[in-house]
Amino acid sequence: MSPSRISSRIRRIKPSASAAAAERFAELRRQGKDIVNLAIGEPDFDTPAHIREAGCAAIERGETRYTPVAGTLALRQAIAAKLQRENGLDYAPRDIIVTCGAKHALFNALAVTVEEGHEVIIPAPFWVSYPDMVLACDGTPVIVACREEDDFRLTPEALEAAITLSTRWLVFNSPTNPTGTTYTTAQLRALADVLLRHPQVMVLTDDIYEHIRFVDAAPRHLLAIEPALRERTLVVNGVSKTYAMTGWRIGYAAGPADIVAALDMLQSQSTSGVCSISQAAAVVALNTAPDFLPQWVATYRERRDTATRLLNAIPGIRARAPGGAFYLYPHCGGLIGKRTPEGKTLDTDNDVVLFFLEAAGVMVLAGTPYGVSPYFRMSTATSLAQIEEGCARIARAVALLG
Ligand code: PLP
Repeated sequence: MSPSRISSRIRRIKPSASAAAAERFAELRRQGKDIVNLAIGEPDFDTPAHIREAGCAAIERGETRYTPVAGTLALRQAIAAKLQRENGLDYAPRDIIVTCGAKHALFNALAVTVEEGHEVIIPAPFWVSYPDMVLACDGTPVIVACREEDDFRLTPEALEAAITLSTRWLVFNSPTNPTGTTYTTAQLRALADVLLRHPQVMVLTDDIYEHIRFVDAAPRHLLAIEPALRERTLVVNGVSKTYAMTGWRIGYAAGPADIVAALDMLQSQSTSGVCSISQAAAVVALNTAPDFLPQWVATYRERRDTATRLLNAIPGIRARAPGGAFYLYPHCGGLIGKRTPEGKTLDTDNDVVLFFLEAAGVMVLAGTPYGVSPYFRMSTATSLAQIEEGCARIARAVALLG
């Protein structure tokens, strides 16, 4: 291997597929191309006005200085109250650290706990960043493929089979990006029973899509179902998706004292506390009833239903209606092996996605970086009109395949 100035831990990771798609879309737009973007990974709603105003008010009050590394007390109190109220979890402000988005909390959690030889179980399809975060922290991702027939749920049997004495973490994300998979209380209970048998396994719950769900009763949090897991669970969440605050960069982690202290130390020597203005806005977000949310969720649901119906009408594509989040993960196996009008054979979901972009002007993401193929991820975080136009274009392009 040629000598490199870049460390081996960085050389073993790759750029995020969704971030790369966002950049590609911006580039195509600059070139004047007419592209329907169904690759978006953030709400298309604006941050609600009362939260925006809280940010402006913080600036005017002069809240523009460093905050404590772990976040302001007001924000950690608001997070503690939220975890109690919405999840039935009992954490004090000292058990909580505020981070630069949930992504930062997940990365730092791995950084302070994972060493070479440690395995991290990641159910697939997974959010693209998890395996690379593990690799960047010198660990070994252990990918557990979940089946479409099981609605892409991690089963207790698959979890049990993946655990070894070297397992450090299970990363558990529900509703899941990219499949929207949700779990019932009974299904969470069954996973908890497996975890109870393996005390070396810690649990990183990524709850970022918790409020974007279309199933009626929200199940209790895994940890509320099995409080005995508390000393080995880190609860990660944030305001990005629920409150349409992706750019404000506020996430958080709540968990055992030693891990939160290590997170605090790492942040104290790297990023320090996160943006003071964003923290003030997040206090208001969490302390105010989210009256806008039922309407947003109803909108996501209508889009999900429309997208599912339109995709299932296209020969070669099979789409399930997910229980949450704002993505669909349709199967495109029926298009594999087909030939484009230019004579190219579609061998993989990467080829299918490229064909959609070039022949139809529709951007979706290939399933390959999400860990289960042949599928693609379609976002519904855009208008119904864009979803209808995108599906109509895909249908016309698919009709040209031989
Ligand atoms: N976790 C999952 C599953 C996500 O899909 C995302 C964003 O797409 C994040 C975490 C990151 O959230 P944040 O913007 O708070 O860093």
